[in-house]
Amino acid sequence: MGDVTRDNLLAGSGVELERTFGLVASDTRIDILRALWDVRVSDEDGASFSELRERVGVSDGGRFNYHLGKLVPEFVRKRDERYELTHAGAKLIGDAVSGTYTETAETSVRPAVVGDCHMSGCDGNTTVEYRDGELRFGCDTCDRIPDGIPVPPIVVESTDADDVPAVGSRFSMLTVERANRGFCHLCDGPITQTVARFHPDFEPVLDGSVDVIHECRACGEWRRSGARSALIGHPVTVSLLYDAGVDYREIPHWEQTWLSEATERLVGEDPVRVAVTAPIGGAEHRFILDGSLDVVDRE
Ligand SMILES: [Zn+2]
Ligand SMILES: [Zn+2]
Repeated sequence: MGDVTRDNLLAGSGVELERTFGLVASDTRIDILRALWDVRVSDEDGASFSELRERVGVSDGGRFNYHLGKLVPEFVRKRDERYELTHAGAKLIGDAVSGTYTETAETSVRPAVVGDCHMSGCDGNTTVEYRDGELRFGCDTCDRIPDGIPVPPIVVESTDADDVPAVGSRFSMLTVERANRGFCHLCDGPITQTVARFHPDFEPVLDGSVDVIHECRACGEWRRSGARSALIGHPVTVSLLYDAGVDYREIPHWEQTWLSEATERLVGEDPVRVAVTAPIGGAEHRFILDGSLDVVDRE
């Protein structure tokens, strides 16, 4: 499917969304999905109609059949007279466990200091707090605009309060890596990376960075970052860090000095070339990226 575009995927998705949410808008259907989840995690090979009806506890066979039928084929599939969850059905349960739909407003962690503020002329501290489903980095002194990173409630709730900033940061690095590998964190659609200066709809605004726009061609989600972001999780930096004794996955992003101290510069326009210089293992490494942020050379 080469013609994945935001327009043709979002066209009609209002109707599609309404229909999809309508399919699970019933207590009985939720109970069926839960029962099939129990079947799945207990490693049983699906459930027959009567087993499932017993688990859910609906005595009226006709009513049960009606609700079960609504879940097929999107969320439940029938194989050899046995019912089981589809990937979409399991994902729905996974999202419920993650708390994304239910606990976002209730989960919060008060601001903690994680380091110095990086704004020039500010002596304040960078603070981080968790609110409304986001880890928010701000300053206790200046009025810099806080950065928000989406982190699901389950990540926060399964972590000691003191560790939330570091664990949340590790989660956010995963989101960046996912985009770097070309998959949207919201819809799994294809991500395109473009230097903002050569993008028809964006202008560069970041100080001291070469702005890059990471955008999803399917849902339209986008994010701006410096070009160095494309090096997160790239084999060339992962191996250099590893050789220097650093497992970058374990380190919150504000302690990743190879990122915070990196410099980046546009060094070619036709073809587009961006140079990112980063200190790793006591040496300066220079990486050359092309217009779609692939590493094409290193020095
Ligand atoms: Zn500040
Ligand atoms: Zn997307």
